[in-house]
Amino acid sequence: MDSLIPNGFLSALTEVSARMAEIATEGRGVGVISLYAQPDAALYRLPLEHLRRFERAMERQIRAQLRSRDRLFAVDGKEWLIVLPSVASSAVLTLGMLRFEQTFNDGLLVVDGLDLPVRVVCGAAMSPDHGKDGFHLLQSARIAGLVAGRADGGSLLFEASMERSAPNVALLERDLRTAFSGGPELELWLQPKVHLASTECRSAEALLRWRNSAGEFVPPPVVIGLIDRFGLRHRFNRWLFQQAAQVLHELRMEGLEIDISINLSATDLYDAEVPDLIGQALSTWNLEAGRLCLEITETSMMDERSGSSVSEVLQRLRQLGVALSIDDFGTGFSGMSRLKRLAVQEAKIDRSFVIDLLASARDREIAAAIIDLSHRLGIEVTAEGVEDGRTAELLAGMGCDYIQGFLHAPALPLTDFVAWVRARECIGRQPVQT
Ligand code: C2E
Ligand code: CA
Ligand code: CA
Repeated sequence: MDSLIPNGFLSALTEVSARMAEIATEGRGVGVISLYAQPDAALYRLPLEHLRRFERAMERQIRAQLRSRDRLFAVDGKEWLIVLPSVASSAVLTLGMLRFEQTFNDGLLVVDGLDLPVRVVCGAAMSPDHGKDGFHLLQSARIAGLVAGRADGGSLLFEASMERSAPNVALLERDLRTAFSGGPELELWLQPKVHLASTECRSAEALLRWRNSAGEFVPPPVVIGLIDRFGLRHRFNRWLFQQAAQVLHELRMEGLEIDISINLSATDLYDAEVPDLIGQALSTWNLEAGRLCLEITETSMMDERSGSSVSEVLQRLRQLGVALSIDDFGTGFSGMSRLKRLAVQEAKIDRSFVIDLLASARDREIAAAIIDLSHRLGIEVTAEGVEDGRTAELLAGMGCDYIQGFLHAPALPLTDFVAWVRARECIGRQPVQT
C-alpha cells in the first residue's frame, strides 16, 4: 500500500506523476480515479484509533476491487487516488467508479463491531484527453469528484465543461490561495469568553471567517475541508498562527490583556512542524506563549500513547508554554481519568450539553461532573454556546469559570470586539503609548 503521510497531497501528486511517467511509455490510456469518503458524521466522534481502523478498512475494500497492476495512494484518510494503467476506454473508469459506489454506498463498513454508513464520491479522468501529465490528470479527476460531491453524490467522469459550468471549484481554490497571500477575505473574528465571577472578558476564541470572491460566507468547517482537499493545510496554519499572534499584538497595543484561543484540527497533531510554526509566530510578535491557547478536540487528543506522533507534538506544545484546552469536552470517550494525563489548562463543555441544561437533569449532571473533576485537577472550565441568562446563572451556581455564547456576543471582527470590550468596561486600561 502506498500510504502517505497526512496532508500528503503533494507527495501523492509526485508519486502519481512518477507512476504516470513510468507507464506513459505503454502508449495506452492512463486513468486516475479520485475516491473521496464522506462518512457519517458519527465517525468524527470516534477516537483516533478507530478512525485509523476505518481508514484501513476503506483501503482493504478499495484494494479488493483493483487489478494487480493498479496502484493505490492514500492522501489523507478521506481521499484515495487510484492510478489505472492500460485503460482501453473511459467506460472502464465509469464501471470502476460504479463498483466502488456499490461496494460502499449499498452496505455498511464494519469497524470494530460498529456498522458505519459511508458514502463515496468518485471523479475520474483519462489521458490524454483530460490531461497529458500527472498533475493535470489528477486535477481533472478531483474536479470531477468535487462536482459529483456537490451534485449530492455519485460518480462522474471529467468533462471540459465542468471547469466552465463549475467555476466555483476552481474559483474557491484560487480565492483561498489569494487569501493566504494577503488577500482580505480570510479573517479571524473574536468571540468573547466572560469570566463568571468578575464578569470580565479575559480571553476570546478566534474563529475563522471567510467570504469568497462572490461575497458568500463559507462556514469554517467547509473552509477547513476545502483547505485539506486542496492541499493547503501548511499555508493555512502559517496564516492562522501569524494572524493569531498579530491579533494578540494589536490587543496589547490597545492596552487589553486578553488571551486568544485558536482551534487546531486533528491532523495538526501529527504535524511535527506545527510547534515550530507557532513558536515562530509568537517570537515574531514578541509575545509570551501563555497568551495563546490551543483548542484541541477531545477525540483528536486520544492517541496519546507514548511515542505516538500526537503525544510528541503535544509534548512540544507544552514545552513551548502555550495553553492547551480540550474542546467539545464530554463528546469523546477519554473519560475523566485521562483528564489529568492530558495536562491541559482548560476544558470546554460542549454546546450540546449546554443547550438543554435547564431542561435536562442528565446534562446538568454531566456539566457538574466535568466542572467538579476539572477543578480538582486545577483545570478551568468554559461552557460554550450559552444563549440565555438563566443558563448562565445555572452555570455560575455550578461553579463554572467562563461562559462563551450568543448571550454575550457572537464572534466579532477585531475592531468591533475592541469596541465591545470597551463598552462593557471589562478592562479599563489606557492604550499603550507608542
Ligand atoms: P467550535 O470550536 O466548537 O466553535 C464554536 C462554534 O459555536 C462557533 O461556530 C461559534 O460561532 C458557535 N457558537 C458560539 N456561541 C454560540 C451560541 O451561543 N449558539 C450557537 N448556536 N452557536 C454558538 P463557527 O464559527 O461556525 O465554527 C464552527 C467550528 O469550526 C468550530 O467549532 C471549530 O471546530 C471550527 N473552526 C472555526 N475556526 C477554525 C479554525 O481557525 N481552525 C480550525 N481547525 N477549525 C476552526
Ligand atoms: Ca473551539
Ligand atoms: Ca467547541
